[in-house]
Amino acid sequence: MKAAVFERTGGPEVLAVKEVELPRKSNEALIRVEATGVNRIDVWLRTGLYPVRLPHVLGVDVAGTVLEDPSETFKAGDRVLVYPNVGCGRCELCAAGEENLCPRMERVGQHRWGGYAETVAVHSRALIRIPDNLAFEEAASIPVNFLTAWDALVRAARISCNDSVLVVGAGSGVGYAAIQIAKLHGSKVIATVGSDEKVEMAHRIGADHVINRKKSDVVKEVMEITGGRGADVVFEHAGKEFWQTALKSLGLKGRLVTVGATTGQEVGIDIRALYNRRQYVIGAGVGSKPDLHRLLALFSEGRLRAHIDRVYRLEEAREAHRRMEASEHFGKIILRP
Ligand SMILES: [Zn+2]
Repeated sequence: MKAAVFERTGGPEVLAVKEVELPRKSNEALIRVEATGVNRIDVWLRTGLYPVRLPHVLGVDVAGTVLEDPSETFKAGDRVLVYPNVGCGRCELCAAGEENLCPRMERVGQHRWGGYAETVAVHSRALIRIPDNLAFEEAASIPVNFLTAWDALVRAARISCNDSVLVVGAGSGVGYAAIQIAKLHGSKVIATVGSDEKVEMAHRIGADHVINRKKSDVVKEVMEITGGRGADVVFEHAGKEFWQTALKSLGLKGRLVTVGATTGQEVGIDIRALYNRRQYVIGAGVGSKPDLHRLLALFSEGRLRAHIDRVYRLEEAREAHRRMEASEHFGKIILRP
């Protein structure tokens, strides 16, 4: 098959499209990739921030068509989305539908080859049927971004209609997903963006207030918008650069939920502020398979929407990575083989 492979870590130039042999176990289904999402984690794996076995094929979000399934759960031609966190299928956590927390979990596109390719091999239990009214590009926008935002806001922070939610980096895939999920739950959304042209886009997908962090003092603006109380929930994925701003924007009994470390992973916390203000700092990540089913239903009903930034061909994977690293995108970057 043709795939965008890298044999050493480094800049976007290490991604090279070539013919390779797909590793596949005899009990795994074979999927023809129709669309795959580009994510921050792809950049971290490519640069070596996260260790990876080389050569490697990236691509955690995979939507495609079944070519063959030895388990006979799916038939050739079925449109499927891959739930990326493939658990052992035997432990207590897997049995409870929490394969994402299985100690032996192998993530598609991280621990095994992913969707920057013509085909992907994965056991049929990781496949979910795509509703007929969803395009492959839309389906491929869901797992990493929406499932992470859902895990953070709904499961970890337990948002409600009484909450004001500060979403950091509205233009990122996970940021625009978080805005929609917070609005779906009736929360008031304050979003930060890094440029003027992203202000209007953030409003369009539902943010009630948008702050250009390069022009305004985020903490001051959040305090003004919330009448001096601070945000009830801060959805954070920027890491070090934004951490203190995130903490200072957080109100009494506020929940800061973090899902990423784009600008650095070592941060400081003044624990006196934490206990005096009765605050919570919570971690979240790519959520469970039952939650992915729920998200697909919400997309099918039109209550959540993908916002596709740009679709690239597999041969343009380097360009797609450059765009993501420069934060020029708003929404989801997609690759099509
Ligand atoms: Zn397991």
